[in-house]
Amino acid sequence: MKDFGDCTFCGGEVEAKQIEYDYRRMERLLVISNVPTGVCRQCGEKYFKPEVLKRMDQAYHDVFDRHQEPERVLEVPAVSF
Ligand SMILES: [Zn+2]
Repeated sequence: MKDFGDCTFCGGEVEAKQIEYDYRRMERLLVISNVPTGVCRQCGEKYFKPEVLKRMDQAYHDVFDRHQEPERVLEVPAVSF
């Protein structure tokens, strides 16, 4: 059984992959590694299962609202175009 259907944008095959994902809301960014996703082999579009989105949302609130210690903290440079 395939975990993901074909890509809704290009019809390409979507393969199950673990990725590092930048979960960002407004000015706050949480980098989450080992996220189970479906990634389109053709266009790279990412697909998330609802339970995965929910877990990422929980992790975001754990760190930013409940002040849980993250595993690591990265320094992120920013520039204007
Ligand atoms: Zn695609």
